[in-house]
Order: sequence, then C-alpha cells, then structure tokens
Amino acid sequence: MQYDIDFLIIGSGIAGLSFALKVADAGRVAIVTKKEAVETSTNYAQGGIASVLGRYDSFDLHVQDTLAAGDGLCRQNVVEMVIRDGPSRIRELMDWGVAFTRRSADNDELDLVLEGGHSQKRIAHAGDFTGRVIEQALLDQARRNPHIGFFENHIAVDLITYSMRMKRGTVTAAHEDVCCGAYVLDTGNGEVHTFRAKITVLATGGTGKVYLYTSNPDIATGDGIAMAYRAGALVGNLEFVQFHPTCLYHPEAKNFLISEAVRGAGGILIDARGRRFMEDYDSKKDLACRDVVARAIDNELKKSGDDSVFLDITHKDSDIVQARFPNIYEKCLSLGIDITKEPIPVVPAAHYMCGGVLVDIDGRSDVERLYAIGETACTGLHGANRLASNSLLEAVVYAHRAATHAKAHLEKKTLDFCPEVPPWDPMGTTDSDEAIVVSHNWDEIRRLMWNYVGIVRSNKRLLRAKNRIEMIEEEIHQYYWNFKVTPDLIELRNIAVVAHLIIQSASLRKESRGLHYNLQYPNKDDRHWLKDTILRRPFVG
Ligand SMILES: Cc1cc2nc3c(=O)[nH]c(=O)nc-3n(C[C@H](O)[C@H](O)[C@H](O)COP(=O)(O)OP(=O)(O)OC[C@H]3O[C@@H](n4cnc5c(N)ncnc54)[C@H](O)[C@@H]3O)c2cc1C
Repeated sequence: MQYDIDFLIIGSGIAGLSFALKVADAGRVAIVTKKEAVETSTNYAQGGIASVLGRYDSFDLHVQDTLAAGDGLCRQNVVEMVIRDGPSRIRELMDWGVAFTRRSADNDELDLVLEGGHSQKRIAHAGDFTGRVIEQALLDQARRNPHIGFFENHIAVDLITYSMRMKRGTVTAAHEDVCCGAYVLDTGNGEVHTFRAKITVLATGGTGKVYLYTSNPDIATGDGIAMAYRAGALVGNLEFVQFHPTCLYHPEAKNFLISEAVRGAGGILIDARGRRFMEDYDSKKDLACRDVVARAIDNELKKSGDDSVFLDITHKDSDIVQARFPNIYEKCLSLGIDITKEPIPVVPAAHYMCGGVLVDIDGRSDVERLYAIGETACTGLHGANRLASNSLLEAVVYAHRAATHAKAHLEKKTLDFCPEVPPWDPMGTTDSDEAIVVSHNWDEIRRLMWNYVGIVRSNKRLLRAKNRIEMIEEEIHQYYWNFKVTPDLIELRNIAVVAHLIIQSASLRKESRGLHYNLQYPNKDDRHWLKDTILRRPFVG
C-alpha cells in the first residue's frame, strides 16, 4: 500500500504530538508509532519541565545553569532561544489541557521545584506523573483532530531518500540529499507500506536500550538516529550518554526511575553502611549534576563490591513525601519498600542521549525535507551534558520551531520530485526460524555497551567494543537480507548501528568532558576538543 501525505511524523511522544498539533491546519498528517501511541519515554517522565516561571528566576540564570552543565559544548544561541521561548510553550501545554501542580488549591501559581544543577526552583511538574499528564493531554488533542491519522503498531524501517544533485547531474557521486517519506512495517500483518510525504519528521526518542541497564522504555532503540545515518544525514555528539544516577534496584522493577526531584527535596545518598559519600566528590554534594553523581556511585560500587547504594528521604515528613512523590511511593511500597521509613536501593542506568541527528535552529537535518526533534535530535542545547528537565522543554520548543518552518515552506513543496518510489522489496521471504540469533545479539550488544562503553571508559575497552560490534554487525547484515523483516530484527539492526556510532564517537574524543570520561584522558582539553563529534556514513557509490 502507498500513502501520500503532507506530514509524516515518526513517533508519538511530546515532540511528535506537539509538531502534529501545530501543522494539522496546514495539511494531512500521519503519525506512525511502533507500539500503542502512549508507549513513549515522555509517558514515563516524572520530574517535570524546566522553565523560567518564578519570581526570583531569570533567563540569564537558566542560561548559565544550562551552559555550566553542557561543559563548553552548548551552542549559546540555541540555549538563549530555547530558554526564552520556554514560558510560551509551557502556557501552550496548559492551553492543551496539561494540569501542572499548583502551590495550593486556592493559589494559581505553579508549584515550582528544584532539581540537581539548577540554581533556582524552576521545574513545573504534575505530581511525579508529569510525563503521563503531558502525553495524555496531547494525545487527547491529537485524536480529536480530523487532520491527524494514527498508525499504531507501525514501525518505520528506513527513510526514502534521493540524491537530487545526482539527478540534476551536478555531481556524479553524492549522499542522498532529499527525503520523501519512509518504508513502514505494519506489525499486525507483516506488510511494508510506502509513506510518501512532503515533510518527514523523526521524533523517535532516545537510545537507552543500547545499554543493559536503562530507565528507558522498550521503544528507545535509537531508530531515528540509525535511519538518518543510513540515509546519509550528519549525526553528532553520540558519546554523551547520560546515566541517571538513581534507578530503583530491585529484581522485579524493570526500568523504574527514582526522580532527581527526590534529591531536590532533600534526599541523601548513603552507602550500605549508612555513610554519606557525595561530599567526597562535589561541593554541591547530593545536588551535584547527574554525571558527577552517577560517576560517584559507580566508583563507590566498584570500591565496595555492593549491588547498590541507597537514597534516603526518611528524615522528611512522611505526609509531604507521599504527597510529592505518589508514584514513587506506591511503586516502592508495592515492592515492599516504604520510602518514608527506609532508604531506597538505587543504581545508575542509561537515561538520556544528548547527541543525535544534527539539526539547525529550526530542527532541519542536512537532508532536505527531513526534520528531527526531541531526544533523537542534536540541537546544541545540551552540549556535553543535559541539565535535568531541559529535555521536555527542548522537545516542545523545537516542535514549535520545526512546525513553523515546515508550514511556511509547504506551499512550495510537491510530491512530484519523487514520482517513482519503488515498493519495498521483501527479498528473503523465508520466515526466520532462528529467532535465537536475534535475541542473542540483542543481549550481547547491550552487555558489551554496559561493560565497555559505560560511565567510565578506557582505550582498551573501546577497542574491544569496536571489534565485537563490527563482528555482530556483519552477522546482522547477513541475517537481515535473508529473512523477512520483523520488529525485533529492525530494532536489532538499529541498536547495532547506534552502538557502533557511540563507540566511534567515544574513541574519537581524546579527553574527558561532561558525560564522556576516559581513564587515559582524564582531563578536559579545550585546545583540541572544544567541538562537536560529527559523523556521516561513508558514501558507497
Ligand atoms: C523514566 C524517565 C524519566 C524522565 N524524566 C524526565 C523529566 O522529568 N524531565 C525531562 O525533561 N525529561 C525527562 N526524561 C526524558 C524525556 O522524557 C525524553 O527525553 C522525552 O520524553 C523524549 O520525547 P520524544 O518525543 O523525543 O520521544 P519519546 O517520548 O520517547 O517518543 C518516541 C516515539 O517514537 C516512536 N518510535 C521510535 N522508533 C520508531 C520507529 N522506528 N517507527 C515508529 N515509531 C517509532 C516510539 O514508539 C514513541 O512513540 C525522562 C525519561 C525517562 C525514560
């Protein structure tokens, strides 16, 4: 089947849905999403969204905090733009029905809270269900809109790209430079459809599933980054993987995060013997930036051999803790941990990808008609490290920028430039009876990334990881073309590409900065490395 539309949006998190709502008055919109629409990282965000909304706060302070976290690699103009646009985007979320928590029932002011790395209380939240409340409000709006069509349980396989320069004869060999849609697998019936679109938007979220331990849901396999790279787009800064310091450590808890806001509310990190340790690492102690805290916990665990450290909030009033963290309280209680009476066992886990598809200030990749927004993009806001709660903000600001730009240029675009999109070639039609190969490779990639390309890296570990991933990629390559595509195989191919790109980027950066730490180069080297790590697929003619 072939669909011809104006806007193809891949992903139904905060970025994809906000973009859809903004362009729906200008054309037909299709949202393709690989599971149920609600299954997104957005839906699991707890802490909140950062913006300058408080009386004592200022744009300058938020800019300074963001630049300090980014450790020299933020793009100043992007930081200024995102932070100044923040309050308007928060008001828009509220107009769409997002009910942020107020200071009290008879007070209209938002209840702004503090998080690690912020110098002011500026996190707007909805209890500790912020993401769920945002996702639900945006989904409600989008489902009511007659111009927006949802394709749930549809997974994008690859982008459809052309080289206009080659077509025009201006060059003989070039990367593809125009995108006109994507091939998409309907996971219900196994058919691959062609979506031709004037504008294609990658809003595919993060890459947490590349690592063994992650706070991310299963959808976070870096598909957008892998597809864009295969299509010849530039990708950048993929070595900067943020590890959240405090994921719940419990055999029955899959990917459950203990929000940064718990430390913001006075939570203290202790080891198994009850000793506070953050004062050994940073003057901000438990409120230090995420990377500092994650590395400190990693170091404590390596020294002690313990399975976890603990986050203690028992000294705070029990009613206040329950009211502020209802989700965390209930979840922990269901596992036999009463957080008002006992410390919570926690470990670090892969949480956020600061790098991604390289985009300009309007969310455009360097492939024409292809935008990337939300966690899948590298905008320059986060630099070498993301400040807590700046990602939801970045997603809404860039959805707005990209939608405004795309709408303004839609008139001039037609689908005539790519008249003959060939239907998907199913190639090897045999159903795979070797599913074990897929699950084995999944497991091996996630484990090798955790062990060799995790919080603390070294040249030797990176080299080992590179050798292994090249062998695995070769195996996947053979498997991929011999069997029918399945969601597992598509995701496996993507995590392998993203893992390889992270290893390549980490190997190139011969210094330690922000989230990237290499034992052989423990210091920052501004003279040589005050720059992005940018990669592009080598051209195969
Ligand atoms: C547990 C947790 C807590 C967090 N807390 C906060 C917080 O408090 N504040 C904050 O600012 N940030 C937080 N973050 C980060 C933030 O939630 C994410 O960065 C943000 O929600 C990403 O939004 P997105 O729209 O880019 O992607 P997502 O919300 O992840 O949506 C991605 C979408 O793309 C779809 N998709 C992916 N690949 C394909 C494909 N091949 N084909 C079709 N569809 C595809 C997925 O199905 C999904 O619909 C948290 C993240 C997690 C995991």
